[in-house]
Amino acid sequence: MQDKGLLIVISGPSGVGKGTVIKQFIDDPELKLAFSVSMTTRKKREGEVEGVNYYYVSREEFEKTRDEGGLLEWTEFVGNYYGTPLAAVERLRNEGKNVLLEIEVDGCQQVKKKVPDALTIFIVPPSVKELENRIRGRKTEAEEIVQQRLAKATKELEKTNQYRYVVCNDDIDLAADIIRVIIRHHMEKDF
Ligand code: 5GP
Repeated sequence: MQDKGLLIVISGPSGVGKGTVIKQFIDDPELKLAFSVSMTTRKKREGEVEGVNYYYVSREEFEKTRDEGGLLEWTEFVGNYYGTPLAAVERLRNEGKNVLLEIEVDGCQQVKKKVPDALTIFIVPPSVKELENRIRGRKTEAEEIVQQRLAKATKELEKTNQYRYVVCNDDIDLAADIIRVIIRHHMEKDF
């Protein structure tokens, strides 16, 4: 049993279903997980909740936090800033929680430099066509944004080798179970 909690990074292209997979296991008491709520300048989507999905901030607020060293990592993704508040991650890990970051690949690279033993998992779609269907099915974004998200997805899929584990989401329950096993394994072993 480790004292400080694990730092877990889950990435995957827009539309791959990261959120849905994570929901399946985030409250499993055995995994002792805490979700890291990111800051973003993107507009709130319908159904999203301040402080649960994200902290929605202005560009000025984001830049101030970033420039004061308040972010573990950050990126600009399709015109908006996203970043991980550092203090919350440290506090939760010190409480023994395994902190889960749902971030994109540039952010993961920054995390790996700062926290080399971070557990990194990439979720891939069964196919790029399936990914496109899912992004379009969400119907929340204009065509131009959909295209930008798809272009970014293609780039991200070329970087899966930066991750320790790659899990395919062709079945939500199965993908969630595989990630559960990976986390349990790392909780029990010292890597
Ligand atoms: P969305 O707008 O769909 O919620 O998120 C867009 C992308 O930003 C997703 O790939 C998501 O994982 C990523 N993301 C969310 N929060 C953060 C963060 O704090 N840092 C980084 N680097 N990426 C993030």
